[in-house]
Amino acid sequence: MDSREVAAVLAYTGRLDPRTIRTGTGEARDQIAQWQELLNDVPFATNHGWDIREAIRAHVLDSPYPILPVDVARRWRAHRRDRLDRHTDPIPAADPDDPAAWRAELLRARNAVAAGVAAPSTHRQITGEGSPRDIEERLRAIGSCIPPAVRAELTRYRPAHAAREAAVARGVPDALGVRCEWCHAPAGTPCRQRRASPDGTAKGNAVRATPHPSRIDLAAAS
Ligand SMILES: [Zn+2]
Repeated sequence: MDSREVAAVLAYTGRLDPRTIRTGTGEARDQIAQWQELLNDVPFATNHGWDIREAIRAHVLDSPYPILPVDVARRWRAHRRDRLDRHTDPIPAADPDDPAAWRAELLRARNAVAAGVAAPSTHRQITGEGSPRDIEERLRAIGSCIPPAVRAELTRYRPAHAAREAAVARGVPDALGVRCEWCHAPAGTPCRQRRASPDGTAKGNAVRATPHPSRIDLAAAS
């Protein structure tokens, strides 16, 4: 607190407990100097739960004795300790291979919490702000969540999808984008083999790796 804040604090204290009021000019100046000396590192208020007026009010309500600067300092230290107890170091954004930067970031975070500038981080930040940057960059490079090698491996098990991807990659119209008039496969679904048995009933329903030619033509026309 600067001397103006200390003066405001003393005025507030005097309203709650007139015994603390110093009337002489010299006395009042000495009182401000003494309070400022002892409360130099105590903030007037923080955005995270500390307000010196609350501490003064609590003292006046709790204690029969006139408040001393050390009473305020003690409350601030208790507040600070309580915040640090609740704080769990978040994982620094610094490169873990740079221990100096890593440590400096941890210390900065703790000091900010202690000074009341930042709120304690009570949980490990699992979700943070989206995925780490290098994963996003890699995803952009690959264009898919499935790595190319795995994707190639999968083509054996999903020939229709693989054919569709290959078609899109070649710039050929996407046949699966339209409904197949031949086998009635809806859009997005691979064609199916329709084999009729001699008596006219459907026999077999296997997925075709390639769309029916009429479907390809239809996609090309649309
Ligand atoms: Zn079809």
